[in-house]
Amino acid sequence: MVILLADAFAPDLPGRLAPFGELSTDMSRVGEAEVIIVRSKTKVDKAMIDKAPKLKYIIRGGVGVDTIDVDYAKQKGIAVDNTPEASSLAVAELAFAMMLAMPNHIVEADVSMKQGKWLKKELERTELGGRTLGLVGMGRIARELAVRAKAFGMKVIAYDKYVPSSDLATMTSLNEVYASSDYISLHVPLTDETRGMINSSSIATMKKGVRLINTCRGQVVKTDEVAAALKDGRLGGYATDVYEKEPPEGSPLLTAPNALLTPHIGASSEENLLRLGDSIVDRLKKYTKK
Ligand code: NAD
Repeated sequence: MVILLADAFAPDLPGRLAPFGELSTDMSRVGEAEVIIVRSKTKVDKAMIDKAPKLKYIIRGGVGVDTIDVDYAKQKGIAVDNTPEASSLAVAELAFAMMLAMPNHIVEADVSMKQGKWLKKELERTELGGRTLGLVGMGRIARELAVRAKAFGMKVIAYDKYVPSSDLATMTSLNEVYASSDYISLHVPLTDETRGMINSSSIATMKKGVRLINTCRGQVVKTDEVAAALKDGRLGGYATDVYEKEPPEGSPLLTAPNALLTPHIGASSEENLLRLGDSIVDRLKKYTKK
């Protein structure tokens, strides 16, 4: 069988997949592929599925399956799998790094030093200890973040539409998370319910100057409205790894004050790429019963 490895994984993965079939990274061979393995870059949409008459199995190395037309794949009898367990620590550590970087002005301090400035008085810091972190979505990544925030002396509250209780956070309403948090970190999947949930109306119910962290999906926020809230100071910061359009060419976030931007690297730790490889090999073992 032809296995199409569409996106970049750990360098040892091609060698580990070779025993399962003929491995290719050449997208022009999609018509021969029985298995397609993707991360975030390659979207397995209807058009791609129509080009792949032999396709039986799509594996996404990552959490969400919103980059795959799952309904259409199912109609065609194609199985779809992901590796939700692998990336939690990598993403939680990035969210935590963002939460530390914002009140400590790490990026502004470094950039201004290299411009020959000494902003000792201007760069006033605040501490995370004693502040409230509000988590929207209390799944795998949020749990890892909660452990770390508690170790820093933060109070952790959370809202999850489908998880009523947690040993790591005080579960409460979405309104309460918005109203009481100094930091809000988003950890929901992209669905019809969560698309655009962070907008000017929801921001109006948050504490003035709240810092928002988004490592889930760019479409969960309305980018123009978040950029406007950064400009008028309603939001004290917006750290994001994900964008409505990637890369975010022309996005108002590129020029908004207090925006901290990373290029969708949440899952890209060395360790996670190895874990993704392990998960994909496990999935293929089950598929081929090898
Ligand atoms: P998870 O499935 O373990 O947790 C998601 C939680 O969101 C669940 O507990 C679910 O009940 C809750 N939820 C669903 N709909 C909700 C709603 N309307 N309101 C409130 N809560 C709701 O997923 P996870 O592993 O924690 O990952 C979360 C998201 O992070 C993924 O869906 C993915 O989009 C994103 N992600 C991003 C990167 C990155 O590179 N930045 C990497 C991995 C995952």
